[in-house]
Amino acid sequence: MPESGPRVRGATVDSRTDVVVIGAGPAGLAAAHHLAAGGLAVTVLEAAPRVGGRMATERVDGFLLDRLGRPLGTAWAGPPGAPDAPAVPLRAFAPGVTVHSDGRRHRIGAPRPPRGARGARGALTAVRALAGAPLTPLPPRPAALDQARLGAALGRLAATPGDRLLARPERTAREAYTSPLARLLLSALLYDPALLSSSRSADLALRAFARGRLCVPEGGAAALPGLLAATLPAGCAVHTDVWVTDASIDRVTTKEHGEIACRALVVATGARAAAGLLPGLRVPEFQSVTVFHHSAPVAPATGTALLLDADRGGPVAHTAVMSAVDPARAPGGRTLVSSTVLGPPPADAAIRAHLARMYGVPTHDWDLLAVHHDPEAVPRTRPPHDPRRPVRLLAGLYVCGDHRDSATVEGALHSGRRAARAVLADLGRGAHRTPGAAASGPPRESAA
Ligand SMILES: Cc1cc2nc3c(=O)[nH]c(=O)nc-3n(C[C@H](O)[C@H](O)[C@H](O)COP(=O)(O)OP(=O)(O)OC[C@H]3O[C@@H](n4cnc5c(N)ncnc54)[C@H](O)[C@@H]3O)c2cc1C
Repeated sequence: MPESGPRVRGATVDSRTDVVVIGAGPAGLAAAHHLAAGGLAVTVLEAAPRVGGRMATERVDGFLLDRLGRPLGTAWAGPPGAPDAPAVPLRAFAPGVTVHSDGRRHRIGAPRPPRGARGARGALTAVRALAGAPLTPLPPRPAALDQARLGAALGRLAATPGDRLLARPERTAREAYTSPLARLLLSALLYDPALLSSSRSADLALRAFARGRLCVPEGGAAALPGLLAATLPAGCAVHTDVWVTDASIDRVTTKEHGEIACRALVVATGARAAAGLLPGLRVPEFQSVTVFHHSAPVAPATGTALLLDADRGGPVAHTAVMSAVDPARAPGGRTLVSSTVLGPPPADAAIRAHLARMYGVPTHDWDLLAVHHDPEAVPRTRPPHDPRRPVRLLAGLYVCGDHRDSATVEGALHSGRRAARAVLADLGRGAHRTPGAAASGPPRESAA
């Protein structure tokens, strides 16, 4: 099946360069942008036939199908990735999320009109002010107290600086958040049904949720790495279909082009591949994720809502009519429904039965377009979790990716920027130090 892919430059591979970056996922491309902006010659080597890593979009029968299941926060749209890349156009979901419970659907986490009351309502108003989102009337409130608690927590988190959140005592997300609605929302945001992730990850995920709208890149997840690759400055070459088999500070060995010498090496692969190239790096646990894509003859009436199931009456963690959120993803006005399962793929019949209950419509006539499963989709962030893990192992050797930061695309982009800053500082091209990077001496993470 053809996959959407961005422009890739550099037909011949130079045998010498300033910096080799292994991996053209979000982290590697972000690093390449910052390195090239610092005046270095950069060669990005990517084993796959396309750039983007796990941020892939597949074209099936005119539909654009993401391998990513979870929407992203508005905050990641471009600035953390590359200074000179234009922002990626985003399509936003309805504010908050919609929760299915007992045959009814309720909007939660969305700002609502103040009615002169204090407490939770005041907090929700604060969220609105911060998020700049339009006011949305609340539906009937069978779990009004829980909604109010969640709203108050979101309001507080939205106003709390990130450093203060990271300074709080760390527990599991399950211990930190007892409200059923907060737990439901967190399991979707963290990709963690058991909520054993660090409360730091939970705090940061809820804060991002409270501050902005959930969104997806217009035209598919691959649009982000596509734009990053297409806007790389001169002096930077990206080569796909090049597999790095061995890596050291001053050279890499590739299957296809032999050795390439460099002054610095940035390993921007996933965690397992990084540990294969740099023995001693820790391989984290992973959360497996499966995404189902269906086309429906008639669009369910949930508009652009992201739908969660409070009853947990089936395998679907969350689902949305993606063609309503981003019409570019479905051909000729057809309907695309994308649904995420946190685990291995269940039978399609179980998915359909669950979706029928959540959407309140029959699903037997929906067509299954694709199932994407990745057993190592997202690194788990069990406590103790450091969302700013060191990216500088030695002068000349750096590592970045979602496993060095928050386990998200935003984290991958941010880690790429941190790694590039460390390279620039070591090569005398930049004055500022990267937070979390060692200034000199031996690697900070011999047992990483
Ligand atoms: C199903 C699924 C759903 C997800 N949903 C979300 C989501 O909703 N929100 C979110 O924030 N994140 C999500 N993620 C995670 C997100 O995709 C990653 O956090 C992000 O892609 C990490 O970027 P990266 O650059 O660190 O690594 P990657 O994207 O994995 O890129 C690493 C690159 O290195 C290349 N590579 C590896 N080994 C070599 C080698 N030896 N030589 C050359 N190249 C090599 C790989 O081919 C790959 O292109 C999801 C992931 C999956 C799989």
